[in-house]
Amino acid sequence: MSTRCSRSLAPRTPATEPTRSDTRSHLMTSPHDLFIDGQWRPASDGRRFAVHDPADGSELAQFAAATEADCLAAVDAAADALAGWSATPPRQRSELLRATFEVLTEEREQLAALITAENGKAYADAIGEATYATEFFRWFAEEAVRIGGDFRLSPSGDKTIVVRRDPIGVSILVTPWNFPAAMATRKIAPALAAGCSVVLKPASQTPLTAAYVVDVLRRVGVPPGVVNLVTPVPAGPAVSAMLHHPAVRKLSFTGSTEVGRVLLHEAADQVVSSSMELGGNAPFVVLPGADVDAAVEGAMVAKMRNGGSACTAANRFYVHDSLLDEFSTRMTAAMKAITMGPGADHANELGALVSPEERDKVAGLVDRAVAEGANLTLGGDAAQGGAFYPPTVLTDVKHGSEINQTEIFGPVTAIVGFSDVDEAVEMANDTIYGLISYVYGDPAQALAVAQRIDSGMVAVNRGVLSDPAAPFGGTKQSGLGREGSSEGILEFLEEKYIGIEV
Ligand code: NAD
Repeated sequence: MSTRCSRSLAPRTPATEPTRSDTRSHLMTSPHDLFIDGQWRPASDGRRFAVHDPADGSELAQFAAATEADCLAAVDAAADALAGWSATPPRQRSELLRATFEVLTEEREQLAALITAENGKAYADAIGEATYATEFFRWFAEEAVRIGGDFRLSPSGDKTIVVRRDPIGVSILVTPWNFPAAMATRKIAPALAAGCSVVLKPASQTPLTAAYVVDVLRRVGVPPGVVNLVTPVPAGPAVSAMLHHPAVRKLSFTGSTEVGRVLLHEAADQVVSSSMELGGNAPFVVLPGADVDAAVEGAMVAKMRNGGSACTAANRFYVHDSLLDEFSTRMTAAMKAITMGPGADHANELGALVSPEERDKVAGLVDRAVAEGANLTLGGDAAQGGAFYPPTVLTDVKHGSEINQTEIFGPVTAIVGFSDVDEAVEMANDTIYGLISYVYGDPAQALAVAQRIDSGMVAVNRGVLSDPAAPFGGTKQSGLGREGSSEGILEFLEEKYIGIEV
């Protein structure tokens, strides 16, 4: 681990009440078990695993470790519930989703405290996530009653072509730790709106948030079996067994590209429809003539939202040579001003990474970049105690180097200069990923560049794009399909053509 550091960023001592989340009392009331067929229950063999607070390594809870049989029981429950749920009038499904939105809005702070406790992120990021996560229930409550179809005349004029959209069926939802609420709600809400029943498999680092959301669905009256939650550790064999259950028709996965590839192979055996929200390596292009203040402001949001642990995080900063020094200096100053410490202390802007392993991954990337010749202008010193990694800035980074081609998933800004716009576009596209890109500059020029960048989303003069009303997803190895928006529900619907002679 590097000891180079321009200033010490050891975690701050937590402030006094009332700026600190009272997580422990929330934990007492949150489920720590599996949710199968409308019941919270322990694993059938009684096994549990520990969930930790990354800020200090302390144990938060012992969560039930689902056996393969528990996971298959959850799929059976979802299969049994499917016919009733898909036949439930869309208006009724919509009202349950709306009620979930209302409850989660009311309990936003409690949800945010749990997110911070098990994920480590700053409380402000957790509140942002809780709000974003909750919005998917409102959005898809509105979409549930607008499932369309089509009615066409055949070219010969003597036949009617009816296309209707039916729920695809039992869906397996697998989610990561970085947005433990939003990645689950972005799947559960459209699936339920479409009339599908689901089994949710959250990341083992952050099951408490998912369990909280699932319990709200129980509390508002979603029928037994429609939503189930399992937490097998390790995940691989049990998820594979679920994907081989004959009732399963859909896999919706958010996580790393590596695991996504494995699951696509698993899903192939039974030709299970698969949606994939995978990794990203977002370029952030600052064009000649760009407003540097605006670019730095946008860069801070694009980089530091969720402490850098976001698939949408700006990773590769390509800055025109004419603005390189000014941008690097201002970015370093902005990063330096960030306060780091336990997320439960609401004054801190940067919390812990999810685990010491994640911190060490980020530290390794930075250390090797410096060894390859990058210039460390800030940070680079992994603090001891808790999974903290400080705001870090690297300049003179080489395009094509390890840190430039790897999803960093931490608070590290890696800056590369460029001399002409074609070169910037070429470098931006030179990656296996294609999730999101950011472009700052004169609007007409920035839009022209946005059109040449190969990614599912491009932010022009904006640092954040995620919006429940917009289609979220990537090209290339960043994924398949879209979430959110009116496109998101289509992932859980299947088209059926009915031909009528007339
Ligand atoms: P991960 O791929 O390690 O794990 C994701 C989920 O898959 C977890 O629930 C995990 O338990 C499960 N899993 C792991 N191995 C498995 C296996 N062999 N079979 C079945 N399930 C398995 O990802 P992570 O570390 O939790 O999350 C970080 C990654 O997620 C990053 O790459 C990030 O870019 C990506 N992500 C993408 C989006 C998006 O919308 N594109 C959003 C958030 C995160």
